[in-house]
Amino acid sequence: MSRMASCIFCKIIKGEIPSMKVFESEKTFAFLDINPLSAGHALVIPKHHGAKLTDIPDDSLTELLPVAKKIALATGAEQFNILQNNGRMAHQLVDHVHIHMIPKPNETEGLG
Ligand code: 5GP
Ligand code: ZN
Repeated sequence: MSRMASCIFCKIIKGEIPSMKVFESEKTFAFLDINPLSAGHALVIPKHHGAKLTDIPDDSLTELLPVAKKIALATGAEQFNILQNNGRMAHQLVDHVHIHMIPKPNETEGLG
């Protein structure tokens, strides 16, 4: 089986594995992380399969950050981290490029 055929994120794009989809366009897909670091932790991925940022053509990368921004605005996340890991030493577990959008709880949450 090719790497692409066995890739869990390619299967999520095709709907062969269920996901909580938050965005889809011709070149981009976004869904909630199955093991979230915080409420609303989302992953934004190119539909083009490639393990690392350096494997993906530029025209499949252009929407990733704007979509992460869209999710931040739509969810009202005021503080958040954007993270993208490349390689095992850099803590990459899934070999299909993905941007993590990790909201921080709003400052007022949990107070009072
Ligand atoms: P990495 O360490 O490769 O940057 O992060 C991979 C992320 O993918 C992890 O946060 C993990 O929870 C998430 N993940 C792995 N498998 C699945 C899955 O089948 N569905 C979803 N929604 N997220 C997944
Ligand atoms: Zn893939």
